[in-house]
Amino acid sequence: MELNENARIDTSQIDDQRSSGGGGGGIGGLPIGGGGLTGIIVTVLIAVVGGFLGINNLTGGDGASTQTGDNTSLTQKCTQSEAVKQLDCRNVLYVNSIQDYWVEALPATFGEQYKASKTVLFSKRVSTGCGSADSGVGPFYCPADDRVYIDLTFYTVLSQQLGAPGEFAQPYVLAHEYGHHIQDLLGTEGAMRREQERNPTGANEQSVKLELQADCYAGSWAKNATGTDDGSGQKIFKSISQEDIQQGLDTAAKIGDDTLQKKSGGSVNPAEFTHGTSAQRQEWFKRGFDTGDPKSCDTFAAGAVS
Ligand SMILES: [Zn+2]
Repeated sequence: MELNENARIDTSQIDDQRSSGGGGGGIGGLPIGGGGLTGIIVTVLIAVVGGFLGINNLTGGDGASTQTGDNTSLTQKCTQSEAVKQLDCRNVLYVNSIQDYWVEALPATFGEQYKASKTVLFSKRVSTGCGSADSGVGPFYCPADDRVYIDLTFYTVLSQQLGAPGEFAQPYVLAHEYGHHIQDLLGTEGAMRREQERNPTGANEQSVKLELQADCYAGSWAKNATGTDDGSGQKIFKSISQEDIQQGLDTAAKIGDDTLQKKSGGSVNPAEFTHGTSAQRQEWFKRGFDTGDPKSCDTFAAGAVS
């Protein structure tokens, strides 16, 4: 994958809360492995968001995101030459590419207008419309305030603890979260939520379908990413290789529910799956990539996910 160093990096799509967030407290140990993951999962369930690692619930959300960050230093950094070499500026470009894709793809595919969603960069802790969260929950989307949240140190977790070091993991993660934003815009997310309330015993199956669809949407973005531009005609990517796509697939394999359950020291319990197995996550990302068409991502169709 090669980013175009001439592409304008649009930081207005970001809310940089890294200097305002958290403080004190420390990172408190990332809860992957050693049973920490299960500790988080049993927290009280109030607000529900598309957590990347199957941790879907934050506590105490009131629907309003109160904080805003300060983009000044990010904007300065990302307008300098060679900005494209900086992790945060690269991630801004990934967000730019993903949203540029959906601006066209959403009306073309589903006849709906795309509404922009900011990505909040935070450090350690963040307060959101879905409640407060710490980095341990991984990236997530909050439907109550329509924002994607990520602590970029998550990529170190992906690389060092979950064994997915490839850089393409990063846009894959973001494209998955924006997939949840698409589901929110299309009403898929709300419909799933109502179905979960109607039939609580099938709630996890519904969640798996939602998550696999977000993976498929990430795949359809990946297929079309080289066509995205910065709004002034500069392509955002110079190239995306087969190796990059393989890194996306490898990442999907490392974050399947079965793989994470094994990694956290427990036995594999399909009834607790919320995001799908490694094989399913790969399959749906690949489907989106192979077709390049979000319409092919109907995980809710009868028999689509078994
Ligand atoms: Zn998700």
